[in-house]
Amino acid sequence: MAWLHTYFQIYYTSLLVYNKNLCINNMHHGKCHLCLRDKYLQLSHVLPKFIFKWYKHNSPSYLRSGLEPNMRIQDGEKEYLFCEECEQRFSKWEDRFAREVFPKLQDPENANPIVNYKEWAIKFATSVSFRVAVFSEKENRLAHFPDELKAETQKAKEQWRKVLLGEIEHPGKYEQHLMHLDVIESHIVPNQSRFMNRYFIGATHADMVCSDDTAFTYAKMFRVVIFGHITELRNKWHGTRISPQYGTFGGKSIVVPDYVIEYMSGKANELLHAGDKLSQRQHEVIEKNVLNNARRMVSTAMFKASISDKMLAKGQKNDT
Ligand SMILES: [Zn+2]
Repeated sequence: MAWLHTYFQIYYTSLLVYNKNLCINNMHHGKCHLCLRDKYLQLSHVLPKFIFKWYKHNSPSYLRSGLEPNMRIQDGEKEYLFCEECEQRFSKWEDRFAREVFPKLQDPENANPIVNYKEWAIKFATSVSFRVAVFSEKENRLAHFPDELKAETQKAKEQWRKVLLGEIEHPGKYEQHLMHLDVIESHIVPNQSRFMNRYFIGATHADMVCSDDTAFTYAKMFRVVIFGHITELRNKWHGTRISPQYGTFGGKSIVVPDYVIEYMSGKANELLHAGDKLSQRQHEVIEKNVLNNARRMVSTAMFKASISDKMLAKGQKNDT
């Protein structure tokens, strides 16, 4: 069977050559946004890759883009941002968060988890906020920021860069905050989205948020949101600040400003209306998937969130 062996050898070699060419063609040379050196850049995830892996392993349904709901997505947004060495630097902190914190904060059976963290947590959170800021700037997604807040974003980014390079120990006034989300059973917020629980549990996205005088980076990773403060907002936030040394996530009452909840409610409504764009074909695909996985579907956090949204809507109707 020598010919078969040869055939496979040729096939294998040509595959390697093909991949090598592809690799060379896809290499991007440019300035790394962290070390600022001219290097070959990696295709970097804006939000960490592990959250998409976690979703794939833990959900019977597909992720869909809010902008293009007819498209299934495997992964988050990516861009050529950092060199390999700097990506390695991020991965140390990401691995700790992915192993020690993230699964515990996503557990639907434990509504009130308490998770200890050490000094690596501020580095991880800073790296997420930094990526969101760098990516948004590169993609021209800061057009809605007034000039003063654009200038402040530059200062925050530079401070975060120094933290990530180990030049300073903490981000100072450009604090990092983490909000752990759980299903809401009742609320007194007027006009809150009727999709709020499903947004809390099932959505992931990155954004730059501002009002006239307030700005922050926003990284929603299912039940976890990381905020990178660009303007000083300390007095309106309680129980969310990540300490530069050690502390705990979850397990305590937290307070965030009203405009954060309003922003989230707006995003929840966007998701709700994204459903209107679903084609008949995709409706059928979803329906089939639900029927084929009915037993698994009813035990998911998303299904429970959907029931809670319906109960909330019913309660609101009864109040009026
Ligand atoms: Zn670099």
